[in-house]
Amino acid sequence: MSFTLAIVGRPNVGKSTLFNRLVGKRLALVDDTPGVTRDLREGDARLGDLKFIVIDSAGLELAEDDSLQGRMRRLTERAVEEADICLFLVDARVGVTPADEIFADILRRKNAHVILAANKAEGRAGEAGALEAWSLGLGEPLQISAEHGEGLDDLYSALQPLAEEFAEKRAADLPEVDVEIEEDSEDEGVYQAPTREKPLQLAVIGRPNAGKSTLINKILGEDRLLTGPEAGITRDAISVTADFSGTPMRIWDTAGMRKKGKVNDKLEKLSVADGLRAVRFAEVVVVLLDVNIPFETQDLRIADFAETEGRAVVVAANKWDLEEDKPEKLKELREAFERLLPQLRGAPLVTVSAKTGKGLDRLHAAILKAHEVWNRRISTAKLNNWLGAMTEAHPPPAPGGRRIKLRYITQAKTRPPAFVIKATHTDKIPESYERYLINGLRNDFDMPGTPIRIYLRDQG
Ligand code: GDP
Ligand code: GDP
Repeated sequence: MSFTLAIVGRPNVGKSTLFNRLVGKRLALVDDTPGVTRDLREGDARLGDLKFIVIDSAGLELAEDDSLQGRMRRLTERAVEEADICLFLVDARVGVTPADEIFADILRRKNAHVILAANKAEGRAGEAGALEAWSLGLGEPLQISAEHGEGLDDLYSALQPLAEEFAEKRAADLPEVDVEIEEDSEDEGVYQAPTREKPLQLAVIGRPNAGKSTLINKILGEDRLLTGPEAGITRDAISVTADFSGTPMRIWDTAGMRKKGKVNDKLEKLSVADGLRAVRFAEVVVVLLDVNIPFETQDLRIADFAETEGRAVVVAANKWDLEEDKPEKLKELREAFERLLPQLRGAPLVTVSAKTGKGLDRLHAAILKAHEVWNRRISTAKLNNWLGAMTEAHPPPAPGGRRIKLRYITQAKTRPPAFVIKATHTDKIPESYERYLINGLRNDFDMPGTPIRIYLRDQG
């Protein structure tokens, strides 16, 4: 086991629901023998290729002489002591409560490794609460839904570097690891996973025969074909690590790689769905098109999915070696791209030949750039200067004679970049104006290839 994760938080935020999801059918292994007093439930959890022990701190019944708060506090303290990492859940639908603040305080005082997550964040109902969770000063809140299994990719991305860290420390038999809190005037107290050269998480998705497996194998190099994929725990999460032109990458895919073995037709048909699942684990998604039949419905659906999931996107037109009139075809592709995928405006479009390897350097550069932009943080000062200029150049509308005022902008999160704008009458701000702001952010801060989110919050 690589590490122990404790799920903590006040009652009813969804700790047990998440515990059950992480432990899944293996719940049978949990020691739930009646009569045995166990107030901390433990189970073997799996998430992607991570295996760990998870502790659920949802308490059992209250002892008569025990106050809820006292008991919660003790259970949490114990869980924190037993665990390497604490996953602190708040309820995105309720927002931050005084009880949450007490927990945040315990975790800070215990100097725990904390991952903060706003649960019940499915749909849009949880957005405000999730953003509010920033105020706990425990870094960027992940948005998850334990019940619907959403946001687990982000949880994976948060855990993975820590898991490696703990595995290494264990191996070196060192007792403790320091949590690094980045003391930055802008982003005070933002929790940063210890910086390390960790592989960039990549997914290559596209229709059957677009050339996914050819491309991945080209990246891996011929020798790796023999070893095949490092099988993940579940069939929907298989990855291989590769050195792509000097950059360590973990490539998430399934069908493409499995195809090299014996795969029957039924599995073959699952390939697109598998690819979509791989998106959840990826930071950058390469949408691979067959240049002979680009931008068909299925391609559009796949590209749109990557955008909706908030991944950095690079579109690669494959089989470029077959093209006769390359300049003309490229023009055509660009036009079709702009028309059919406006939501991916600015995403890089590169041409490649997976077969010959031509264009792979361009693809590599586009992936790195998209990843950098996806992670980018812009200072509040710069953003507010920009907002001033934007509203001056093109003021927001004045419904019923009362002008909407955009007062303040700040970046709430990265991966992908998301911004909160405090404004009056947010419900009156037309979608076209939001698009104006998003396109402005994209152009003025040079952010191609990443989805950009804006959250409007009312401020009288
Ligand atoms: P605990 O007391 O923290 O262990 O919370 P539970 O896991 O018992 O969940 C409390 C309630 O929240 C239950 O009714 C769950 O069904 C519900 N719940 C848990 N996760 C989610 C979620 O992601 N979305 C929504 N809408 N409800 C959830
Ligand atoms: P997948 O289903 O997306 O994994 O596609 P494959 O990698 O199996 O490729 C499907 C077919 O396209 C195979 O016959 C490949 O040899 C061919 N192919 C893949 N990439 C290229 C390319 O860049 N140029 C040409 N001419 N053929 C390619």
